[in-house]
Amino acid sequence: MSLAKDGIMVVLSSPSGAGKTTLVKKISLEKNFKISVSHTTRKPRTNEIDGKDYFFVNEEQFKDLINKKEFLEYAQVFENYYGSSKIRVIENLKKGKNVIFDIDWQGTEQIKKYNLGFKLITFFILPPSKDELFNRLRNRDMKDKNIVHKRMKQFNEDINHWKNYDFVVINDNLETCYNEIVKFIDVKTNNLEHTYNKKKIEDHIIKLRN
Ligand code: ADP
Ligand code: 5GP
Repeated sequence: MSLAKDGIMVVLSSPSGAGKTTLVKKISLEKNFKISVSHTTRKPRTNEIDGKDYFFVNEEQFKDLINKKEFLEYAQVFENYYGSSKIRVIENLKKGKNVIFDIDWQGTEQIKKYNLGFKLITFFILPPSKDELFNRLRNRDMKDKNIVHKRMKQFNEDINHWKNYDFVVINDNLETCYNEIVKFIDVKTNNLEHTYNKKKIEDHIIKLRN
């Protein structure tokens, strides 16, 4: 049972390149959420900073953390391991800080099952189209065409998980998408009445699959 003073947990998942990292950073900055900085065995991108974007570790270090039960959840995504540190998350929540996660569907399922006892709101982010997703991945991962190709290939599998999230939002215009997420966080946190256009999402998923 969560206490009124406890923070809440918000999870953002999406197919790679849809924009969840961008949205997580914006929510953290503008709404004062603590980002759960994950550990990963992936190599840093040129603009990424150790301890800020991820804790970059090797496979041996990651397995050691698994054995010490340091993770709230962890998963293999593409060829690398990713995991969320349990102690940091709980410390923040108990201090009344809201925590936001940028994790995949496997991690989200684990957090739901773990049932930490804090309020949890989950979002699945969709791109406006496959072409736009390709453009975003290409711009971000310019140096490695192979990565773009692999992540596009994974897209059809990734979008199947949208049904297991509280809300699905389309990240076309960043500001609009951000406002929508913030609105849903508010209604869920304060148990307010809200409408949610599920049919629009179902139609969009059909469009993305074609
Ligand atoms: P993810 O974390 O889902 O893999 P990112 O947040 O890294 O995706 O976004 C992928 C790329 O798309 C980044 O270069 C980011 O700046 C860009 N991007 C994110 N949201 C939008 C948007 N609404 N419109 C245009 N570009 C975006
Ligand atoms: P990227 O390599 O693009 O930073 O992340 C690849 C995928 O791993 C994304 O779907 C991202 O959400 C996911 N991811 C990042 N950190 C974690 C984590 O701690 N746990 C899990 N399960 N997935 C993560």
